[in-house]
Amino acid sequence: MALIVCKFGGTSVASPERLRNVAKRLVARKQEGHRVVAVVSAMGKTTDELVGLAAAVNPNPPTRELDRLLSTGEQVSMSLLAMAIEARGYQAMSFTGRQAGIVTDNTHNKAKIVSVDSKRILEALDAGYIPVVAGFQGIDANGDITTLGRGGSDTTAVAVAWGIDADVCEIYSDVDGVYSADPRICPRAAKLDEISYDDMLEMAGAGSGVLQMRAVEFARKFNVVIHSRSAFSDAEGTYVKEACDMMEEAVITGIAHDTSEVKVTIRGVPDATGVAAKVFSALAGNSVNTDMIIQNISEDGFTDISFTCPAADMGRAKETLDRVVPEIDAREVDIDENVAKVSLVGTGMRSTPGVAARAFTVLGENDINILAISTSPIRLSVVVDAAQVADAVRCLHTAFDLDSDEVFEETQLSAEEIAAKMNKGR
Ligand code: ASP
Ligand code: MG
Repeated sequence: MALIVCKFGGTSVASPERLRNVAKRLVARKQEGHRVVAVVSAMGKTTDELVGLAAAVNPNPPTRELDRLLSTGEQVSMSLLAMAIEARGYQAMSFTGRQAGIVTDNTHNKAKIVSVDSKRILEALDAGYIPVVAGFQGIDANGDITTLGRGGSDTTAVAVAWGIDADVCEIYSDVDGVYSADPRICPRAAKLDEISYDDMLEMAGAGSGVLQMRAVEFARKFNVVIHSRSAFSDAEGTYVKEACDMMEEAVITGIAHDTSEVKVTIRGVPDATGVAAKVFSALAGNSVNTDMIIQNISEDGFTDISFTCPAADMGRAKETLDRVVPEIDAREVDIDENVAKVSLVGTGMRSTPGVAARAFTVLGENDINILAISTSPIRLSVVVDAAQVADAVRCLHTAFDLDSDEVFEETQLSAEEIAAKMNKGR
């Protein structure tokens, strides 16, 4: 018998039918003899709709009121799920963030959890209930409702798991775990049985969107084991936990890719002291998040500086550079939107030399030009032409022995097919 937190995302609770299926699933876990706590996201696109409503009455809604509004999405799904569980003859009780003892700082819209008091959850468990906790929300010291940032229900789940000292925090979603690469572009990608917190964080930072990064950071800090698994099947997913022996054998754990960045090049920059400081201070001052930075060797006193940044920051980057480039007497700015970042991630890289050499050789053999490079002790990222991203991921995946024997076939499921799949075997 284990103590389990089961978190269900927006897609899994998007309709009454899906809520009934989640209830069925929770009851099944309880019948297996486990003690179960549920954490839910808002139904489907509810949060987006609430954000839209707010914007329709005020283009710049007060953050306190916005949090009050957004928190209602999860409160709808928690109550409905509790009712659906009761309809199956089991006791359930829903809890808002405040009732679940989730206390945060007062940074509305992206609050940080400062403490968790699980008394009521534990009492409900002891009395035989399935507690259902509204994700994404807490309460600040003033008693005002806060939210944890988009995707924050994952963080609630990990916090609740920590608060009640659960054996595992199961995060159910429409993907069945963490893969060695995105199976949609790399059909030989393999589902990982387990991955270390460090590797998971690097994968998430490099573009793999399975789990919210903050939830993984919280889990690492407090050693909460996460099990990322499918809401639509009983198959085991991927355990995210402290590194274990098996992980040390592989040099590379996975390959992430990210097409959301652009590459900016400033040409003809005078090679003088303080120029880079001026450029990057101005960019930072305008909230441009720069990632990789490369400065070429100067020729005749001039050099080129390139950096990558999220496409979302491109407008601000352009605006900043239009101002700064004349000030530093550089020649011109050039923005390339058709780039992608491909990252090899693996704790094993730390102790294995030659990863970069092997990666560059493989890319060269496949006629893939490297536009920029950056590294951390457990990550090697390259920027390539966007048109070559799938080829780059696939050839690296093969070269680093990550290929699975099974070939992933992408299935585009309709809403009805997903519902049918959820019903299967239950
Ligand atoms: N409902 C919130 C969102 O859409 C939180 C979550 O789903 O985790 O961002
Ligand atoms: Mg979500």
